[in-house]
Parts: sequence; structure tokens; C-alpha cells
Amino acid sequence: LARNPGETEFHQAVFEVMASLTPMIGTRPEYAQWSVLSRMCEPERQIIFRVPWLDDQGRVQINRGFRVEFNSALGPYKGGLRFHPSVNLSIIKFLGFEQVYKNALTGMPIGGGKGGSDFDPKGRSDTEIMRFCQSFMTELYRHIGEYTDVPAGDIGVGGREIGYLFGQYKRITNRYESGVLTGKGISVGGSQVRTEATGYGTVYFAREMLATAGQSFDGKRVVVSGSGNVAIYAIEKVTQLGGTVVACSDSDGYVVDEAGIDLDLLKEVKEVQRGRLSDYATARAGSARHVVGGSIWDVPCQVALPCATQNELPESGVRALLANGVELVAEGANMPTTPEAVALLQEAGTPYAPGKASNAGGVATSALEMQQNASRDSWTFEATEERLEAIMTSIHAQCVETAEQYGDPGNYVMGANLAAYTRVADAMVLLGVI
Ligand code: NDP
Repeated sequence: LARNPGETEFHQAVFEVMASLTPMIGTRPEYAQWSVLSRMCEPERQIIFRVPWLDDQGRVQINRGFRVEFNSALGPYKGGLRFHPSVNLSIIKFLGFEQVYKNALTGMPIGGGKGGSDFDPKGRSDTEIMRFCQSFMTELYRHIGEYTDVPAGDIGVGGREIGYLFGQYKRITNRYESGVLTGKGISVGGSQVRTEATGYGTVYFAREMLATAGQSFDGKRVVVSGSGNVAIYAIEKVTQLGGTVVACSDSDGYVVDEAGIDLDLLKEVKEVQRGRLSDYATARAGSARHVVGGSIWDVPCQVALPCATQNELPESGVRALLANGVELVAEGANMPTTPEAVALLQEAGTPYAPGKASNAGGVATSALEMQQNASRDSWTFEATEERLEAIMTSIHAQCVETAEQYGDPGNYVMGANLAAYTRVADAMVLLGVI
């Protein structure tokens, strides 16, 4: 705490993992001998830089860029870039810390890192976005590489931004190094299913959770918060598996559509027009209701998938969900449920999956993109989705088995944290004190 004053989100993420380690105390003396935990809490490298760029009026704008290279025991640093006005060092550190364990759970050879900027893309023109990305990469390029650090997208960074970032990297370095970024467009080395992967993966994970209770998505009423990349493809997969998503949200409020969210319309509004949920509601005036402000968690559902941002599901939200009979919560976003809200879910015995397990499908598919780039190959949509599904099923099994091994069956938080921690810690012990 004293070393990282004011970094509340980072503290929150570290405490959550530490609390899960209690059953392991004393069982692995080499971890204490080599100070594994203390080293894990200190990023290997933190880079903060100025990002100057010209807006469409010719004025100079200044933003702050970050890349926190957290842990490379298992492989090159891997994790997304977030462009959002709320970005600061605490947020990037919490995301980087979580990423280390998430990546370990995938079983793939990737370390953890995260980056981004306090740049707000909302309302910016395409050319402003491009100039910002080019300026951001003009500093970032010297810190990344296929074998060093491989960024991807996150909030505010999708295929368009990754394209501009990759273009600038290629231009500066004179290297068509496809493996330096993931989430690229298909024609410049991207992978099938990367766009869909986090949302699809979250739903595959939730499907496995339901299956342990002999249930499925068929006929379930589902609420998905957010309406960005993760939310859209979570809605798509729930619908494919027979569930009905009745509500989704953005930072202005939420939409309830009792007939089920119209996915084609949602994609048109969000992905093509880059519009707002209020535009969706206007276009679906017959069945959709737009609520400005308020809490999406007041909408009754059996399955809740928070897919927007950190700490978006507070205690009051969980109380409302429980009162309406929620049966399962699985996180598509990173740390969307506050610690108090998690405790409430666990007390109620409601199955709850932390994002580092349930949203790992995005980074897992990014690692598949790296594999395809390294072998100059590209796989079909079906083959890639099959790999994603197998990875999510395996992460679910690891969580369940590890929770049982440590005497707390059904505790996905403990299962995920202990399984991931062991993998990273074992690698750190092998590599010595570095
Ligand atoms: P997008 O930028 O595509 O979408 C974010 C969505 O969340 C938007 O609907 C946005 O609404 C909403 N949102 C953002 N901030 C807030 C807020 N403060 N209050 C309410 N709503 C908010 O991002 P992604 O879908 O990619 O990411 C969503 C979450 O998933 C994040 O936590 C991210 O870290 C996590 N994640 C993403 C992965 C990926 O592959 N993209 C991988 C793993 C995790 P608005 O438009 O109004 O801002």
C-alpha cells in the first residue's frame, strides 16, 4: 500500500488474489524462499509517455500513454491497450496484474502486461483517431515486439485502432512483423474469431458452469451489461445457445427489449454507425425501452454477464439480482464485480466466475493469432472456434478441480487464482531471482 499510494484498483486486484492463497500457505516453501509473491506484485517494467497529436482544427492535444510490462515468466508480455478518459496508472496496473493470471490459465506461453491512454475516442473523427494511434505507436514501438511484448485491443481499441497502430509500427521499423500486435484485420494477419472470442468464450464458460448443475442456456433469460465488443458477441453466443438477452447497456443507461436484443440492429448501430444505445431504442420503438441512468441489474434475469467495465456491479446490483432470482454470474469484463458484491454472491451460494477465468477467451485467441503469424498460416473460423471452445472448457475444469483440491468446491475465485498462481510461481522459481 505504501509503495503504491492511491492505486485503489491495483490494491483491489492484488488483495483478491492474496485472499485466495491462504490454503496454499506452508505447502510450497520455495515460493516464500524466493519471495515469489512480492516479486509478482512489482511490475517488471512500467513505461509512461507523452502522446502529442493534432486535432482536426490543427490544435495540439496532449495525452498520456502507458505500458506496464508486468510478468514475463511464461512468455512475452501480452495484454490489451485501453483508450478511455478514466485510464491512469492504477487501472493499467490492475489490468496488467489480472492479465498475468488470466494468461496463465489459458495454458499458453504468454506473460502479462497492459497499456493504454487517457485519450477519449468518443466524438473523434477517423483521421483524429489515426493521428493519435500513430503518435502513440511512435513511442510504443521501441518497447514491443513478437518476442518481447504483444499488445492487443481493450475498451476503445478495436480492429480500426489496431490497424492504424500496426501500420505505424511497420512504417517505423520497416518490418512486417505480424506477431507484434493481435486483433488485426484478417487481410493484415488477423485471426478468425478474435473479434468474437471474449464474448463467445465468456458464454462457453458460463455454459460449462450451467452444465455442472445439469442445466443449459436454453430458455434462460439473460442480462448483458455493456454494448461493446465483448457484450455484442456474448449476446450473439447466448442467442445461438437458445437463451434470450433482454437488456444491455452503455455509459448513458440501458435498453430493455423483451423480444430479445435484435443483434443485427445492435451491430449496425454500434459497429457500423458507431452510435449509441439510444439510437437502437429509437429504431426498435415497438419493443425496446431506453432507461437513462439507473441500474441494468434491476432487470430480472436468470443469468447476468457483466461485460462493460471495472466495479460496474456493486452490492446494490447483486441484491437486486438475487431478489429477482439470478442463478449465475459470469464476468466478461475485467473486475466488474466489487469485492463486497462478490462476497454477497458467494454467501448466497450463487455460482460466480471471475473475469480472469471466464473472459480469457480473447487473449487465448490472440495467442492463436500469434501461432498463425509465426507459422505464416491462417485457420478457418470453425477450426479456430473449436480451439477456443476447448480452451474455455479446460479453464473451467482447472478452476473446478483446483477449488476441490483445496477444499472449497464450487469456488471459482479460489480455483482460478490458485491454479494460475501455481503456474506462474513455478516458472518464476525455475528462472531464479530476476
Ligand atoms: P468496448 O470499448 O468495445 O465496449 C465497452 C462497453 O462498456 C461500452 O458499451 C461502454 O459504453 C461500456 N462502458 C465503458 N465504461 C463504462 C462505464 N464507466 N460505465 C458504464 N459503461 C461503460 O470494450 P470491450 O467490450 O472490449 O471491453 C469491455 C470489458 O471487457 C472491459 O472490462 C475489458 O477490459 C474487458 N475485456 C475485453 C477483452 C477484449 O478482447 N476486447 C478481453 C478481455 C476482457 P460507452 O460506449 O458509453 O462508453
